[in-house]
Amino acid sequence: MIFAVASGKGGTGKTTVTASLAAIWEGPLTLVDLDVEEPNLHLFLKPEVARETAAMLEVPVHDSEKCTLCGECATFCQYKALAIMGKTMLFYPEMCHGCGGCLKICPESALSPGGRELGQIVEGQTEFGRFVMGRLRVGEAMSPPLMQQVKQRVKEQTSHAGMPNGVLGDVLIDAPPGVSCPAMHAVMDADAILLVTEPTPFGLYDFRLAVEAFSGLKKPMGAVINRVGIGDQGVDDYCRATGIPIWAHIPNSILAAKAYSRGEIVARELPELKMIFQELKERMRAAVTVSREVERA
Ligand code: SF4
Ligand code: SF4
Repeated sequence: MIFAVASGKGGTGKTTVTASLAAIWEGPLTLVDLDVEEPNLHLFLKPEVARETAAMLEVPVHDSEKCTLCGECATFCQYKALAIMGKTMLFYPEMCHGCGGCLKICPESALSPGGRELGQIVEGQTEFGRFVMGRLRVGEAMSPPLMQQVKQRVKEQTSHAGMPNGVLGDVLIDAPPGVSCPAMHAVMDADAILLVTEPTPFGLYDFRLAVEAFSGLKKPMGAVINRVGIGDQGVDDYCRATGIPIWAHIPNSILAAKAYSRGEIVARELPELKMIFQELKERMRAAVTVSREVERA
C-alpha cells in the first residue's frame, strides 16, 4: 500500500507524522521524501546514504548554423521556452519542461538533446526501511520532473526488492505542503492520503483547500489533527459535516516539541504518542482495504 502524508500548508507536522509512522511500522517499508524543495525527513530518519545521483532534464541545444529561424519550434512549445527575436533564437532553459517535442519537429535537425541538472536523488537505508529523497537544485523551479524521477527510482527499488512471497512492502510518502501541482503530483499514485492539519482557523482554511483539491482523486482520505489543545473545534466540526474521517488526534505536548527540536522521532520518545500512531496506521490500512473491497464489489 502507498500512503501519502500531505497538508494544506507547511508547519503542521507532516514530517513528524511520517517519521513517527515509519518508527512504528511493521513489515517492509520504503520511505520517500517528495518534498523536494525542502526535504527534511532525513533529519529524523538519519539514513545511511548508499547512492547520490544527479537528476537531469533533457533540454534542447540549438545549432545556429543549421537553424533557418523558421519558428516552428517556438510555435510548438506551449511553455514559451523558445522564441525567435529578429535573427536570433532565444531559449529559456528554466521554462523548458523537457518534453522533447521541439527536437522532433525541427525540419533542419538544428536541435539536439542536452541536459540541465534538476537536483539530486539520494538513496539509502534507515533502520525502518529503504529511503529515497529528491533534493531540488537551488534556483531550480521545476519540481515535478524531479519528483517523477524519484517516483521512478522507488518503483525500481520496490520491484527489485525481492520481498518474501512477492510482497513489495508499503510506501510512505512525505508530500510537499500546499495544494499546487507538486502536492498533487506527490499524492496521485497513493492508495490513501493523510491530511495533517492543526485545530486553528488558519489550519481549517488550508485543510478545506486540501480537501477540495484532493477529493477529485477519489482516494480514501483521513484527517490527522495535530497539536490538539492549541485551538478550537473547527476542524473536527468540518470533518463531521463533510464526512472526512478523523484518523488521529495528536495532543499538543511540550515534550513532543522538545523531541522534535532535537531531531528525535516523537512516537519513539513518548509512549502515549506511540499508541496513537499505531491506531493511526490501523485506520490507514483499513481505509485502503475497504476501498479495494468496494471497488471489487
Ligand atoms: S524549428 Fe529548427 S530550424 Fe526552425 S527555428 Fe526552430 S530550431 Fe530553427
Ligand atoms: S523540450 Fe518541450 S518544453 Fe522544452 S523547449 Fe522543447 S518543446 Fe519546449
